[in-house]
Amino acid sequence: MIHVLLDNGHGENTAGKRSPKLEDGRQLLEYRWAREVVRLIAGMLEAEGITYSIITPEEWDVSMEERCRRANAIAKQSKVPTVFLSVHCNAAGKEGKWIEAYGWSAFTSRGETKADRLATCLYDAAAEIFPKDKRLRRDFSDGDADWEAGFYVLRHTTMPAVLTENFFMDCREECEWLLTDEAKEMCARVHVEGIKKYMV
Ligand SMILES: [Zn+2]
Repeated sequence: MIHVLLDNGHGENTAGKRSPKLEDGRQLLEYRWAREVVRLIAGMLEAEGITYSIITPEEWDVSMEERCRRANAIAKQSKVPTVFLSVHCNAAGKEGKWIEAYGWSAFTSRGETKADRLATCLYDAAAEIFPKDKRLRRDFSDGDADWEAGFYVLRHTTMPAVLTENFFMDCREECEWLLTDEAKEMCARVHVEGIKKYMV
């Protein structure tokens, strides 16, 4: 058994981190989207009998230091191994402009760690669950699919940690899809099935 630490990136007060507005006025706010998906993940984990903590239940932005402090404190107390998942949407362009960038990706901290296996499990789940017209962005330069990056929350957490960028909120096509219940459900399911694969 493992205990899952869920981090929903950003807060209501984080600058940027939102899609351009669609013609009908809808807009993807990353903090809100990530919170919805994290709550879906939590419900699915519960149904699977897997325990979890939502480390940033607040609506506002919690500093990255504080996120890591909370995660590491829970891990220290936990009787079972923990994993850390940070849920985000990607953006590639200038705020306010739609761009053409596509796909789902998972990032780990640099170097060969247990997080690499977790990321591989998440990619396997993503390949099974997302519709075939959705792209998975892979980086095989180091022998596995995930992107290695120096994200703060990945460097300062003590447990295997993966940050997912769930498609591009500033790509019109992906943004419209991300705003559907189907997409939120699928993104959540990928995290849960990835964790289940990791636990085997
Ligand atoms: Zn983000």
